[in-house]
Amino acid sequence: MHRRIFLQNSLLSLGALSIGKQKILKVMSTDPWKIRMLTDSIGIFTEKGGTIAFHYSKDGITVVDAQFPDSAQHLIDELKKRKDQPFRLLINTHHHGDHTAGNIDFKDLVKRVLAHENSLANQKKVAENNHSEDKQLYPNFTFSKEWNEDIGHEKISLTYFGAAHTNGDSITHFQKANIAHVGDLVFNRRHPFVDHSAGASMQNWVKVLESAIKKYDNKTVFICGHSANNYDVKGGKDMLVAFQKYLENVLKFVGDEIKSGKSKDEILKATEIPGSPEWRGDGIERPLAAAYEELSVS
Ligand SMILES: [Zn+2]
Ligand SMILES: [Zn+2]
Repeated sequence: MHRRIFLQNSLLSLGALSIGKQKILKVMSTDPWKIRMLTDSIGIFTEKGGTIAFHYSKDGITVVDAQFPDSAQHLIDELKKRKDQPFRLLINTHHHGDHTAGNIDFKDLVKRVLAHENSLANQKKVAENNHSEDKQLYPNFTFSKEWNEDIGHEKISLTYFGAAHTNGDSITHFQKANIAHVGDLVFNRRHPFVDHSAGASMQNWVKVLESAIKKYDNKTVFICGHSANNYDVKGGKDMLVAFQKYLENVLKFVGDEIKSGKSKDEILKATEIPGSPEWRGDGIERPLAAAYEELSVS
């Protein structure tokens, strides 16, 4: 995302001399965010941080994740502009700041903030460590396994499958539309962050994805938190299957390297995960180090 904005800006300055004044103004006034409607009532918002999903209904708007305070404000303004409905519910897929820092913007707008119980505990712990408690809006409703509610014509369910990216990730399923927001349980063709400080488990992540692959059907549309440049944050079940395979490939690669006597430093030098060449770009050392941490103790 940052790279794309940088490229746009660079192209703008390079082309500035040759492009007419009107065109430059048009490019410069383009909003930094994007809204995409997936149905009449469900859409996604991307600016920076984790993808946000929203659902309009006669009972009010449900929002899944909140990015950062500045981008959350862009979302709130835009949703209000499009339809004058009150906010009914804010859901956090998990506690990371790129999904919850914008919660604070909903402080006077929404009565309920919902997340898995571990997500709340993690958010509190991180905020206390960073002395940023005053910048948080914590979930005031939590669940442990499953949560369901009818909102408007939609049936919304949250399911917790176990430790994975953190120990508090849940999947929000808009059952009638058959759209599921999986948060950071899927990184589409992008190397993931594995947050061991918040109870993550790469090995269990594979099982969590197996459960999700079984639970949702072949028509379910999935929304994920992050994707690599030129890859979508939205996809079918194949997006989950490919990421599950990637995690298995990382674990197998690192396991084999440990068995052959390689040191951690040597393992972290790898530039590609065998079997998952589509995962390119920055951050490969993160999953390698996480796999090493898990496998070198077992
Ligand atoms: Zn994220
Ligand atoms: Zn995350």
